[in-house]
Amino acid sequence: MPKTVAIVGAGPAGLMAAEKLSAAGLQVTIYEGMHTAARKFLMAGRGGLNLTHSEPFELFVTRYREAQVMLAPLITEFSPLDLRAWCEALGQETYVGTSGRVFPRAMKASPLLRAWLIRLQQQGVTINYGQRWIGWRDDALLFRDQAGVETSINADAILLALGGASWPRLGADGSWQKILAARGVDIVPLRPANCGFVIPWSPIFREKYAGQPLKTIILTSQGQDFQGESIITKQGMEGGVVYAASALLREQIEKQGKAQITIDLKPDLSVEQLRQRLQKARGRDSLSNHLRKVAGLSPMAVGLVQEILHQKRGLDPVLMIKALPLVLTATAGLERAISSAGGVPFSEINSSFMLKRIPGVFVAGEMLDWEAPTGGYLLQATFSTAVRAASGIQVFLNAGSRT
Ligand SMILES: Cc1cc2nc3c(=O)[nH]c(=O)nc-3n(C[C@H](O)[C@H](O)[C@H](O)COP(=O)(O)OP(=O)(O)OC[C@H]3O[C@@H](n4cnc5c(N)ncnc54)[C@H](O)[C@@H]3O)c2cc1C
Repeated sequence: MPKTVAIVGAGPAGLMAAEKLSAAGLQVTIYEGMHTAARKFLMAGRGGLNLTHSEPFELFVTRYREAQVMLAPLITEFSPLDLRAWCEALGQETYVGTSGRVFPRAMKASPLLRAWLIRLQQQGVTINYGQRWIGWRDDALLFRDQAGVETSINADAILLALGGASWPRLGADGSWQKILAARGVDIVPLRPANCGFVIPWSPIFREKYAGQPLKTIILTSQGQDFQGESIITKQGMEGGVVYAASALLREQIEKQGKAQITIDLKPDLSVEQLRQRLQKARGRDSLSNHLRKVAGLSPMAVGLVQEILHQKRGLDPVLMIKALPLVLTATAGLERAISSAGGVPFSEINSSFMLKRIPGVFVAGEMLDWEAPTGGYLLQATFSTAVRAASGIQVFLNAGSRT
């Protein structure tokens, strides 16, 4: 009889581990709380499915900050090139975009996921949908379905691939934190990453500009510059440049209750060039029109300058354009964050990714305590941790039993 593995969570981590384990001849059953697989992966596909990044390994691994020490060996074992080859073997050609990011040519996740699920079925993997993991009954996994029916499951090894807690309506809600904590596992609380931030706009500004983009800006925080675009929201600000700075900003808020940033609204002009332009006679133009005409600011950027000038009268308009000061008072919620920071710390697992306190139970994917910016780093680490956990399970099962 082949040994059995129960995987909880049919996201990319769970599915990748299932592929490796079933290919090795193990009998794999996946339990998934939702009624379909990989909802967040499909959502990532809406943005083109940035699978990984093509930059050199030495730079790539720095994106994981402190976790790079743990993740670098895994990203060697299952590398960005391996990930591309895997995707192509499923019939989805990949390409490197101008930014170095890697995408499937189809720019979506659905054809890849379809081919993947067929492969898993052919390898004998069973997926039981609508089964929410709610804890343990003795040493067995305990699930509850929508009708409230509870089932307990035993397996020779268990992999938890339950994700973080961003976009909880897609399935991963972080409810596993309490279940593992009750078994003595230390958990770093899940917090938003690659997220928006709260800025208390005036009602007039919010009404007029929420939903509008702020193009080509430089956001500076603690001496670090981030260039890109952002979007003004009712609550504050979100978008690429804010996500890139989000770990730094969240940490400042955690320490000081707020984060201060400045924004260069006109990176293509120096302070001197801008000063010269603004010296031109304003005539009968309002300040807003003058800023728009001579400095070439977008109406959105002018609105932002006016919003802050209104609060801090007398500030030099040139400096307002080159270093507009903003105070972020909180992270926006997990509901719309791209990912989450926190989770099971590496100190709680061994090198096979087995929980030290619960032998036979392994973890992989976003539920581990690492974070990274957008750029394909999230899926790469998700896949690489799953591959490591799958080989850890094989070694464990070959060595003996769950005791
Ligand atoms: C809008 C958006 C866009 C993104 N774009 C990209 C991108 O382009 N590139 C990139 O690298 N990353 C991207 N990401 C992040 C990426 O999707 C995640 O990092 C990745 O899906 C994590 O995989 P996972 O398998 O660890 O967790 P998940 O994908 O969250 O999967 C976990 C699974 O476990 C199930 N589950 C959870 N709890 C239970 C339970 N108690 N019982 C049963 N089942 C349960 C969930 O339903 C889910 O199916 C994006 C995320 C979002 C939200």
